[in-house]
Amino acid sequence: MTYRVRNHRLAFGSSNVELVRSPNVSGNHADLRFLIVHYTASGPGANIAKYFSKSSAKVSAHIVVRRDGTVIQCVPFDTIGWHAGKSRWISSNGQTYVGLNKYSIGIEIENWGPLKWTGGEWRSWTGAKVENSRVIEARHKFGKPDCGWETFTEAQIKATVEVAQAICEQYEITEILGHDDISPGRKIDPGPAWEMNSFKARVFGRSEGSDVGDPGDALFVVRSAAGLNIRSGPGATFDKLQNDPLPDGTLTEVIEADGSWRYVVALDANGDAEMSGWVHGRWLVEA
Ligand SMILES: [Zn+2]
Repeated sequence: MTYRVRNHRLAFGSSNVELVRSPNVSGNHADLRFLIVHYTASGPGANIAKYFSKSSAKVSAHIVVRRDGTVIQCVPFDTIGWHAGKSRWISSNGQTYVGLNKYSIGIEIENWGPLKWTGGEWRSWTGAKVENSRVIEARHKFGKPDCGWETFTEAQIKATVEVAQAICEQYEITEILGHDDISPGRKIDPGPAWEMNSFKARVFGRSEGSDVGDPGDALFVVRSAAGLNIRSGPGATFDKLQNDPLPDGTLTEVIEADGSWRYVVALDANGDAEMSGWVHGRWLVEA
């Protein structure tokens, strides 16, 4: 049995998954382009779907994946949920999207997020103890925080991959992002414990996961000792997408040009897409 989408509801086999409807929605998607991954920052005792069902919560997500792999739907997929907040992303089509709730489906995965080492134990923001075997120590990709992070369960990863496959196939979604990607500086979920590149490769299949950096693509390297600012549009007046510029030596794939500005996908050491945005072309040299 597998997941599939019918009438904007998620089904497993022949029956829909449990629906705990959230009132925290606003109309229908006109353009659905993104799947956004979050963690709930909650423990095993909290029922996040139930929390989303209260209007006072003022938040929601389409899907919640519990630690045991149970999947609950809170918002039908054609409806705009409230999971992304203030956010922006430059899509692979070159267009800038602001306020991504209108363009995305949100998946919340039950997980504490960052953990503090206190009194010889890992503890959540609420002070709940988390077993050492469920913790990795890692640095967030945007440089902070440097701390413990609760790992995601195998059941969660498997369920989230299968649910994402069903959603991406139904709605022809090709861009999966973390909340931290679209709200850098404000949000850190899903964080380093969520292996985003491997997740995307599993959702889209290995062949699609490796299409960035293929021979024939226009690959350029950042050559600037001070780094190169990456912005939301083709000009110095557009917002920086992150506080730290792309470091000297960053490999990028150039997608589009506008005057002396280039829309690039910045690649990490493995050649996987890390982020996208506009940079001034003067500091790019052919790889
Ligand atoms: Zn989030």
